[in-house]
Amino acid sequence: MTDEIPEDHPRYESLLTRHRIEAGVDSGITSRQGLIAEGRGEAFDYLLGEQTISSADRAARAAAAQLLSAEQPVLSVNGNVAALVPEEMVELADAVDASLEVNLFNRTEERLDRIVTHLREHGADEVKGLTADARIPDLSHERAKVDADGIAAADVVFVPLEDGDRAEALAALGKVEIVVDLNPGSRSAQTAAIPIVDNIIRAVPNIVAHARDLETAEPGQLRAITDSFEASVALQEAEQTIRNGSLSSSDTTRDSRSWVPPISEGSVEPAE
Ligand code: ATP
Ligand code: MG
Repeated sequence: MTDEIPEDHPRYESLLTRHRIEAGVDSGITSRQGLIAEGRGEAFDYLLGEQTISSADRAARAAAAQLLSAEQPVLSVNGNVAALVPEEMVELADAVDASLEVNLFNRTEERLDRIVTHLREHGADEVKGLTADARIPDLSHERAKVDADGIAAADVVFVPLEDGDRAEALAALGKVEIVVDLNPGSRSAQTAAIPIVDNIIRAVPNIVAHARDLETAEPGQLRAITDSFEASVALQEAEQTIRNGSLSSSDTTRDSRSWVPPISEGSVEPAE
C-alpha cells in the first residue's frame, strides 16, 4: 500500500505513518482504538511542524542516558508501536541492552502472539509479555498484567504511547518512566520523569543515535545529563510551540507549505 504514496508528497512521512497503522489493524497487530490514538497524535504533530523540537531532542538524549545507566531497563511495545517502529525498537533494545515486553491496553492472547512474532521477524531474540505472572497494583485485571522478570522488575521503563492510567500506576511503583507522547497535556506525558513530545517514528531513531553517541560515556557524565533534564520545562516548551505555532519558535525549519496559523488566545472563530 505504501507504494501508492509518492515520495515527493509534502506530507509523505505522515501518510506513510497512517498506512502503517492501517496495515497494523489489517494484520491484527493494532487495535481499532489505535487508529483513533494515531489521529490524535497527528493533530499535535501537525501543530509542532512535524519536526523534532529542541526540547524533545534534549529529552531523547536524557532518555538514552537514563536507559544506559539503568540496571534493568524494559522497553514496552503496544500495537501502535509495533506497527510503526518494530525494527527501531529492536535496535534501541540492542543499543541500551534492554528487554522488550509486549504490553497491551486491549489485551488478547492472539494480538499478543502476533506482536511477538512481528518483533521476532524484525530481529528481536527474546520478547517478554506472554508469561504475565505479575500485576501492576491498582489497575483492573487485564490492564495490570506484566512479566515478573520484565516490567515488574524494571528500574527504568520506556513506555511510548502509554495510556495515562497505566503510566500513573507505573510511576507510583517508583519506576523511572520515559514516555513518548505528542500531547504534552496527556497524563502519560505529565507523569513521566522524561516525557518526549515527538512522533515515535522520529523519537526512537533519535534515542538510538544518542545512545550510540553516549556508548562510552562515564556513569558521572550520564548522570549529569539526566540530572540536568527538567520535565516541566520540556513540557512547557512543547506546549508553547503548539500554542504559538512553530514558525514563531526558535525551532523553525519550516517552509511555507507547512505553515500553521498561531492559535489565538480568547475567542475562536466559528468553523465555516
Ligand atoms: P491520557 O490518558 O494519557 O491523558 P489520552 O487518553 O489522550 O491521554 P490515549 O488515546 O490513551 O491518550 O493514547 C494516545 C496518545 O498517544 C495521545 O496522547 C496521542 O497524542 C499519542 N500519540 C499517538 N500517535 C503517536 C505517535 N505516532 N507518536 C507519539 N505520540 C503519539
Ligand atoms: Mg488515555
